[in-house]
Amino acid sequence: MSGKETILVIGSCGQLGTELVESLQKIYGAAQVIAADIRRSNNPVFQNGPFEILDILDQKRLTEIVAKYKPTQVYHLAALLSATAEQKPEFGWKLNMDGLFNVLNLARDGGIIKKIYWPSSIAVFGPNTIRNNTPQYGAMDPTTIYGISKNAGELYAQYYFNRWGIDVRSLRYPGLIGYKSAPGGGTTDYAVQIYHDALEGKTHECFLSEQTTLPMLYMPDALKATLDIMHTPAADIKIRTSYNLAGMSFNPTEISEAIKQIIPDFSITYNPDYRQAIADSWPAIIDDSRAREDWGWNPAYTLESMSKDMIDNLRARKSQAN
Ligand code: NAD
Repeated sequence: MSGKETILVIGSCGQLGTELVESLQKIYGAAQVIAADIRRSNNPVFQNGPFEILDILDQKRLTEIVAKYKPTQVYHLAALLSATAEQKPEFGWKLNMDGLFNVLNLARDGGIIKKIYWPSSIAVFGPNTIRNNTPQYGAMDPTTIYGISKNAGELYAQYYFNRWGIDVRSLRYPGLIGYKSAPGGGTTDYAVQIYHDALEGKTHECFLSEQTTLPMLYMPDALKATLDIMHTPAADIKIRTSYNLAGMSFNPTEISEAIKQIIPDFSITYNPDYRQAIADSWPAIIDDSRAREDWGWNPAYTLESMSKDMIDNLRARKSQAN
């Protein structure tokens, strides 16, 4: 990858951004990766390279940062996630849509940004979607404000590509699971917390019911998919809304069984809350064959190998901290 690229990561301090910034620093060099967020993070990764405070709703500030660093690529990650957006639906729509417009319009009008990454989600699907092997194209009737905003955002991304040639690339992430950074208010967050509880010897009280199967992806695979789609020649990106993407699917019982293989005393109880209805409107298993065909997507981790890696790494971090 060329050292001439400069990358701006907006919403860099979240679950995905923290790890993505680290990966981008390794590829492009830390000085070439500008991290930006509405808040600061004390994660050491942000001390390696430039950091700017940015509210993505502030178009003037975004324009200043782009003029200062001249990023050729933008990863726009700032969003209100599914569970949080249900608490503040109007603001969820505003942040998710206006933030995207600010980035798209600056790419169209500013002549600096050449490529944009903007994540979508399995939340674009709804109750009338086929739940098992959910196809790339089919019924999309999201019931959450988060899903509605991602669905509209996908169509806008495609519109800006068709109308003005803006090179936007997107993946419909399933639930992301990682050990380096905390999740930010999604319906799949339990699948991260459960490992922390297991290591602390606590019973995990699950906010979803035991048979709720959802698609998930381990963070190293999510980073690989994100970087792969951004490094694919533009002509091979055939889908300009967003690609279905998957790694594995499991329910809370299955993940707890995988944890028990490593921590036999682990226990789980169930106390579903408002997030159950969100999960019930989402697919269980995703068909990501288009990503496999178009740009070679192939996830490495299974539930078992992810569980081992999560627990090994969380244990190592815990013993370093003590
Ligand atoms: P997160 O909530 O952990 O991080 C979002 C970051 O955006 C936070 O650091 C937050 O401070 C920042 N932010 C919020 N408002 C901002 C504003 N006005 N201006 C600038 N920054 C602002 O989210 P994440 O899990 O890292 O998700 C990143 C992207 O991936 C989002 O678009 C999300 O919809 C998508 N996604 C995530 C998941 C998942 O499971 N984590 C699944 C599907 C899609």
